[in-house]
Amino acid sequence: MNILMVASECVPFVKAGGLADVVGTLPRYLKNLGYDVRVILPKYQSIDGKKYDLQTLPYRLQVRVGKDTEFFRVKYYVSEDDITYYFIENMRFFNRPGIYGMDGLDYPDNRERYIFFCRAVLESLKALMFRPDIIHCHDWQTALIPSYLKTVFRDDGFFWNTSTVFTIHNIAYQGQFPADTIDMAGFSWADFTPDKLEFYNNFNFMKCAICLSDAVSTVSPTYAKEIKEFNGKGMEIVLNSRPDDIYGILNGLDYDYWNPLTDREIAANYFQDDISGKKLCKMELQKLCGFDIDENAYLLGCVSRLDNQKGFDIILDAMYLLDDKNVQFVVLGSGDATIKRYLVEAKNKYPKSVAVFFDYNESLAHKIYAGSDAYMMPSKFEPCGLSQMIALTYGTIPIVNRTGGLSDTIKYYVPESNEGNGFVFNITYGDNFVQTILKSEVVFRNKKQWKALMNNAFNSKFTWEDSVLHYQTMYLNLIEKKEYEIVYR
Ligand code: ADP
Repeated sequence: MNILMVASECVPFVKAGGLADVVGTLPRYLKNLGYDVRVILPKYQSIDGKKYDLQTLPYRLQVRVGKDTEFFRVKYYVSEDDITYYFIENMRFFNRPGIYGMDGLDYPDNRERYIFFCRAVLESLKALMFRPDIIHCHDWQTALIPSYLKTVFRDDGFFWNTSTVFTIHNIAYQGQFPADTIDMAGFSWADFTPDKLEFYNNFNFMKCAICLSDAVSTVSPTYAKEIKEFNGKGMEIVLNSRPDDIYGILNGLDYDYWNPLTDREIAANYFQDDISGKKLCKMELQKLCGFDIDENAYLLGCVSRLDNQKGFDIILDAMYLLDDKNVQFVVLGSGDATIKRYLVEAKNKYPKSVAVFFDYNESLAHKIYAGSDAYMMPSKFEPCGLSQMIALTYGTIPIVNRTGGLSDTIKYYVPESNEGNGFVFNITYGDNFVQTILKSEVVFRNKKQWKALMNNAFNSKFTWEDSVLHYQTMYLNLIEKKEYEIVYR
């Protein structure tokens, strides 16, 4: 089976969130199953061509975006595990400092940038003579590819064997633009209908993919259910038009990379049977934060995009309401300027118990996961969430809202039965984050119970070995369906 992953982020090249982790890891596991898996990405300025020794293919290709002809080149890199990564290079659209924008604002031409990208991907496949059985598209930036194959390229024999999968990593980002996108993207107005490209008289990238890809997946079973029922940000009706084609597949975590025993970024390595190193990690983190070095302080960490989705309003409440407790808070995040301002206010008020870092900083992220006692994730919605899985593997206890992938991965700890791996509250039912922190603090202060809870955390594993089998089943279903289609074409 030939598989092409198309995405706007992928570790180790470029990352803004969990999408990059998934696209960087899933291909390796598919490769292990014996498939030819390749990945295609934009060549952003931040991707260091020298570091990866990117090679340039010997052709200059072109596509139309509106009235303009855009030229581009394809670069590539073959990884140690023999996966080929292609990079679409175009100075006008991708040679900029940010991925999607700057200083918390989207680039005003993101519509053109990703129309270009989608068209360029399809042209590149022809130039490369690579015919995928599956084109797996991730998030709205790649969402036009299934639509092109069902409309503009419908009669193009090159793609007759190709099925498309569209994965929703976060339904809140849909790529909605005015109807004239039809012209800019080169579609026909005849396809501007509710079952295809029209969405309440607008053009919505994600809606197109939900209607026109061969299967839709999202990144946890609970989120798959939620977006059909109440949390689909306007897409409920579209998703319910094809309920049998929506798959919910939990992301795995890369346990080779996120491993406290081998992590080079942390003060001391440790593992489940000897957690003495974790104490040193906590001391180092307290020092970094300017806090008192105090083993008994309950240290709560958070590494996140600064976005309303992530529940920073409630985290801020906790900072103010727990100031008389021996609780310390550390937040690492980048994004929304207003959230930043409120966090700075809290830090200025409580410099001995609140620390904030506004940066995208992988190294500090590791130190927070390892050095914290518990991890705050009061997200209003969370498609899957990787941070809680990372926290678990560092023996750091997640405190989460019951939503999406957090429901699928974190269970409330009950000391009597020694079941559960974290603390869960439910915003919808009016549960309170601060009260939940206080309940977790009681367990923290009971050394025996906390040790048992940490053991449960270490034992919670969400592996790609499991998840990849679900993707394989979905792909094989599509290929089987395609064979029927070809016979009856
Ligand atoms: P989302 O995809 O919504 O951003 P996830 O929990 O799925 O949330 O994934 C977030 C990933 O990005 C985690 O690996 C987290 O550690 C990382 N991350 C988020 N913000 C930062 C930051 N400022 N610095 C370093 N890593 C970050």
